[in-house]
Amino acid sequence: MKKTLLACVAAFSVGAAWADYPEKPLTIVVPFAAGGPTDKVARDLAEALRKPLNATIVIENVGGAGGTLGATKVSKASPDGYTLLLHHIGMATSPALYRNLQYKTLDDFEYLGLINEVPMTLIARPSLPANNYAEFLKWIESNKGKINLANAGLGSASHLCGLIYQSTLKVDMTTVPYKGTGPAMTDLIGGQVDFMCDQTTNTTSQIDTGKVKAYAVTTTKRLGGNLAKLPTLEESGMKGFNVTIWHGLYAPKNTPKPVLEKINTALKTALKDADFRKREEALGAVIVTDGRVNPAEHKKFVEAEINKWGPVIKAAGQYAE
Ligand code: ASP
Repeated sequence: MKKTLLACVAAFSVGAAWADYPEKPLTIVVPFAAGGPTDKVARDLAEALRKPLNATIVIENVGGAGGTLGATKVSKASPDGYTLLLHHIGMATSPALYRNLQYKTLDDFEYLGLINEVPMTLIARPSLPANNYAEFLKWIESNKGKINLANAGLGSASHLCGLIYQSTLKVDMTTVPYKGTGPAMTDLIGGQVDFMCDQTTNTTSQIDTGKVKAYAVTTTKRLGGNLAKLPTLEESGMKGFNVTIWHGLYAPKNTPKPVLEKINTALKTALKDADFRKREEALGAVIVTDGRVNPAEHKKFVEAEINKWGPVIKAAGQYAE
């Protein structure tokens, strides 16, 4: 009886201690450089979260090592709800790619909900002579050994897509890693690298304005709007090629439950925000509305993605120390 009473008092004081959360600005760590697709969704989301969370939100870009540096930082941050991580599919691909990952994907984070899903496009420097996918394949054939492929480091979405692309084609290319596809895009437009695979949230306007060439999309269905003219890789002969990127929100393990609940409730409100949806959907992102906006299903989904991509990556024979 006494014990139950003490437990109730303890639970009440933990809840009460966090009743006023948030009392200061929050930081969302983006594990890639500013100006790229993950930065874009984080800034859009921060805008939509500000009101329901009633807090100022600061974005901190911690790029490098395919997103693992930023994820490591958040896994070791104080579990007080003031440091969050917005990360993508790299949460699920990094365990297979890094032998010495400094965190355990499923054990060291609290899962807060999935945010969006984003298709990718195969894009090239504007000076590349190929004008469609068939010509691009011919160009690859006659330039073997000289081709540069940009990505955002081992474990990034652009890396995953490029890895599967190269192993399906059975052509080795030189990969050029950046801290994010924001800076990679600058070099692609400038002609320093030949091509890359990147999310529509970062490529749509560059394609529309002719700053880069676009050859294909990575989903099994064609996209809408101006990108509808691009063939899927599957219809271009790569059977089963299907890469869609997703983003989710995380907190360090052991963040108090009342705080997690407040963030999840605010996240659900933000995902319904009309401006947020409009901005994301205009660039080809699909906002998550199903059960994966809940922590348990988000975690289950990431676990399934680890099991899906691990064997694919291992078969391609890639890993880092
Ligand atoms: N999401 C990365 C970025 O924002 C790009 C990638 O993963 O390929 O730069």
